[in-house]
Amino acid sequence: MITLEHITVSLDPEKIKRRLHMEEMGDWGPGQTLIETAQSLISARAAYKICFIEAKHEGVIVIDGIRLTSKVLRKNVDKVERIFPYVITIGNKLEDKARAYEDLLEQYCLDTIGNVALNLAQKYLEYHLRSRYALGEVSYIGPGSLHDWPIENQRPLFSILGDVEASIGVRLEENFLMIPTKSLSGIYFPTEIRFYTCQLCPRKDCGARRAAYDENLAKEYGI
Ligand code: SF4
Repeated sequence: MITLEHITVSLDPEKIKRRLHMEEMGDWGPGQTLIETAQSLISARAAYKICFIEAKHEGVIVIDGIRLTSKVLRKNVDKVERIFPYVITIGNKLEDKARAYEDLLEQYCLDTIGNVALNLAQKYLEYHLRSRYALGEVSYIGPGSLHDWPIENQRPLFSILGDVEASIGVRLEENFLMIPTKSLSGIYFPTEIRFYTCQLCPRKDCGARRAAYDENLAKEYGI
């Protein structure tokens, strides 16, 4: 397992303002203070592994002797031999601080800032993988992002990676959630065309949607 320590996460106040739908707010002083507080509490780290796919079956791939069952993952790695399971975190200090606030708006703002920070840390990992391993386009899929690869797949993913808690302090709970909660897990793989799980997800009114639902593509994937 390879770890990346001290990932730089620079919060952009204007982007955060938009994310919080507070563009029209004149006095942004309290928001700015929250961003500065958040910035001092973020400790972004990532762990990943370079894995070679040992076997490919219908809807299944095998890595390090561990089976991962997902039609979507299987189809995406059809022409790929090397993939990168990962976990990223920004640590627990920010969420602890958010919990300590009594004001719900402040809690919401810090939570949102934490999500922005986590996405920036993921972008850093993506940049690292692309540049270090000379990859072109890459995409990723995380356990629980689709019915096709439910959250229970956290278990084999963590088994493939090894002792993630010892390396970057992320623990997998019995209910498959990660502690700190501001953590992300999944598998990066090279692609010719960028793939988003949102393309296969029909959920309506999702504020985090990054691509339109494509019913035909979902049929192609057999889901
Ligand atoms: S549309 Fe929303 S719920 Fe569905 S995969 Fe995208 S981010 Fe996740």
